[in-house]
Amino acid sequence: MSKTIIVSNRLPIKITKENKDYEFKISEGGLATGLGSIYREGNNVWIGWCGMEIEEKDQELISNKLHDKNLSPVFLTEEEIHFYYEGFSNETLWPIFHYVSTYAQYDQQYWDHYKKVNEKFKTAVLAIAEPGDIIWIHDYQLLLLPQLIRDHLPNSSIGFFQHIPFPSFELFRLIPWRAELLNGMLGSDLIGFHTYDDVRHFTSSATRILPVQTAANVIHKGDRNITIDAFPMGIDAQKFNALTLSKDVIKRKEEFNHLVGDNKIILSIDRLDYSKGIVQRLMAFDEVLAEHPEYINKISLHMIVVPSRDSIPQYRDLRDDIDKLVGNINSRYRTAAWHPIHYFYRSFPIEDLSALYSRANICLVTPMRDGMNLVSKEFIASKTDETGVLILSEMAGASKELIDAIIVNPNNLGEMSRAIVQALEMSEDEQKSRMISLRDIVNKFDINHWVKIFMDQLEEVKAHEKSRMAKHVSNDLIRAFKNKLHKAKKRVFFLDYDGTLVNFKSNPLEASPDSELYQLIENLNKDKKNQIVIISGRKHETLGSWFGHLPLDLIAEHGAWQKKFGEDWIETPNLSDKWKITVRPMLESYSDRTPGSFIEEKRFSLAWHYRKVEKGLGELRANELISNMRYLTREKGLQLLPGNKVVEIKNSEINKGKAASNYIFGKDYDFILAMGDDHTDEDIFEHLPEEAITIKVGSSVSEAKYYLRDVEEVRNLLHEVIS
Ligand code: UDP
Repeated sequence: MSKTIIVSNRLPIKITKENKDYEFKISEGGLATGLGSIYREGNNVWIGWCGMEIEEKDQELISNKLHDKNLSPVFLTEEEIHFYYEGFSNETLWPIFHYVSTYAQYDQQYWDHYKKVNEKFKTAVLAIAEPGDIIWIHDYQLLLLPQLIRDHLPNSSIGFFQHIPFPSFELFRLIPWRAELLNGMLGSDLIGFHTYDDVRHFTSSATRILPVQTAANVIHKGDRNITIDAFPMGIDAQKFNALTLSKDVIKRKEEFNHLVGDNKIILSIDRLDYSKGIVQRLMAFDEVLAEHPEYINKISLHMIVVPSRDSIPQYRDLRDDIDKLVGNINSRYRTAAWHPIHYFYRSFPIEDLSALYSRANICLVTPMRDGMNLVSKEFIASKTDETGVLILSEMAGASKELIDAIIVNPNNLGEMSRAIVQALEMSEDEQKSRMISLRDIVNKFDINHWVKIFMDQLEEVKAHEKSRMAKHVSNDLIRAFKNKLHKAKKRVFFLDYDGTLVNFKSNPLEASPDSELYQLIENLNKDKKNQIVIISGRKHETLGSWFGHLPLDLIAEHGAWQKKFGEDWIETPNLSDKWKITVRPMLESYSDRTPGSFIEEKRFSLAWHYRKVEKGLGELRANELISNMRYLTREKGLQLLPGNKVVEIKNSEINKGKAASNYIFGKDYDFILAMGDDHTDEDIFEHLPEEAITIKVGSSVSEAKYYLRDVEEVRNLLHEVIS
């Protein structure tokens, strides 16, 4: 039976060493709880670093102890932790992914260790994984791991979830190793982010940096489809609800109430990080006190900052800035009995957090960037009396869901200070109405829901991939085609040209037939039972010059022209091209506005090519052209064909499908094979009789029965069937 393997940088445990003895404490974090339902079951396992350097002689002991808990440790040396974790993860990826590019370090040693440690994780996974297992990899420390595993276990189900934001292309492109990182991630079957914006940014970075295609939220890379989707992570809402009712928390809350009395409490909880906007938040609070002296003695800010990454200079500087600002504000406004800010630079047990959350009147969560932000959700889950106000930065992933919070831009100090005043003055009715809908969301979309939705989608995506793969022309299928071919007396091969027999080139005329293709055609023609028909959208003059001398038949310009071997070209009768007078100037206006594009004129069609246009701009203009031309083309009996970097407009009476079915009419072929790569070839697949072998090249989404990956596979198939 297949098992599920979770992989993350850290295992959900804390190890401490007391007098040579190791103590283990399982983490109570939301993610650990959510994934607990998976990794604790049966043979499932969680692989990760155990959080400290373990001497080699103790490693086996630790592994054995953790084995019983379904945990499997990866041991890292101090040097690896320094370069891979503190270095590349936290000083290169973290600042770029949080839009602070000026803090990013591009250090070759960091990168070398990042690769090395990802390899180390790969070895740990491969020691346990078997074909058919489900592997769920977490977060930015392991971006290379999906592809490293895929290389060894090509059919495994691999999901990847990134817990921090994915930046826009303009930021991501700065990283010297951007292509390697993307290729690593794209080893997955499913890639999840917290928000749709992250999905967009990732997809646009992938299409701009790598030669991949996208359709909606699916990236097509080589022969694989990778689904990219948003899965906003939730918290263990039940636990936070229940905690507020526990005796311990009620007692702590009473003690706290005794200290603060009737003061309105504004709560702020973060890890020390420049992405959290702590300094800006303090400045906004300062502004409230300056402009509203009536709040002196009546409100206070309780600010918890959890120490983090203080080996990095920017974090130490930030801590100094916060210390200074807190001291400055307190010294200016404090009275003998009252402090405006209660600042704690340490972490608290969850019971204290719960008491604070449930007592606080306002929770001020204003990061400059945050993947999700769990504090905002924990505050809401702890508000069992349905009062309280959440002020939330629009730069936090949570703001996409928690729309009944007061949403602010953390760079706008005026807006933040007004939001604090609005929250302080908000009626209880309004607080309740907002809090009830916020609580509905946090309670429903909790951590268990998140785990289930991700795992279900991974299963669905994989099942879809498997059925798609079944359509791929395998060696078994080639043998079956050959059998059929040998029994047949009269065979026809409909072969599309561009993208099927030859690869695309920036200049269409450069994609002329090569000697291997001519040889292949000659071999096919040796058997007199074979009839080759090249069926293309190309100009008839071009096809004629390339193939006119060979014993085969040609269908050009999507069926507008036909030529039998040894005869002249025949034009489809009764077609008009008067529509070009109206359409050509319209296409010219697009060419004039779009450098690199050009118009190709055929007898009964006009094609607007954008292969050489700046990425993105070509697609934008093509979509605009299609939408502007939609009515005109319908009115004039024309057809719009979006192709591979081309939009073609032609008489709707002609298409490759009609041409192919006319061709076979009354000829009783007992073997029909058709191959093509784009939109226009779908007409062939649809029009041919049921027994025809139809093959789409490059993608599996098609009317065709089978698919091949690329031109090379097409040539190989032709070679095999005639050998
Ligand atoms: N937290 C904690 N102890 C503290 C303060 C905070 O365990 O003294 C927890 C808090 O409950 C929350 C997490 O730290 O679950 C912070 O998560 P968030 O997503 O807000 O920020 P991150 O640190 O992951 O960027």
